[in-house]
Amino acid sequence: MRNPEPTISEIRSRLKKIRNKFYPNLDLSNTEIVISNRLIKAGRITQWYSIPKNKLTISRKYHTHHGWGDELDETLKHEIIHIYLPINCKHGQRYRYERKRTSAKHYSKWIKSEPSRNLYKCNSCSHQFESQVDEVECPKCYDTLECLGEISI
Ligand SMILES: [Zn+2]
Ligand SMILES: [Zn+2]
Repeated sequence: MRNPEPTISEIRSRLKKIRNKFYPNLDLSNTEIVISNRLIKAGRITQWYSIPKNKLTISRKYHTHHGWGDELDETLKHEIIHIYLPINCKHGQRYRYERKRTSAKHYSKWIKSEPSRNLYKCNSCSHQFESQVDEVECPKCYDTLECLGEISI
């Protein structure tokens, strides 16, 4: 049986459960949660250098397709690491350490019915490539990537 779409407050309590397990001292009161109809990858975190605030965007398309159960918990686990780490860590070494520690998944799946590709550029070696999954590191030098945006196919 597939899980129905949870409410924002249900998502918040699931995020808190993950927080309690891995980051018991992390304050989530500055984290806003929204569900987006437009976001195609599983989730996104928006942070600001100037204000201590996080915006956690959850994709409705992605989770309606892949499920609001374990799959949403995987998304929340990925994004809570971004909330925990300083803003400039992206998917770098500290991120990879936390990912191992929390056994968060490396990639999010993509939605076959919504084919889209992102263009990525490595922050170190400038290698550029396209991918249909949420890439976290450069396949050549394993440094962090910048996502240059979506390319439709
Ligand atoms: Zn990420
Ligand atoms: Zn590279």
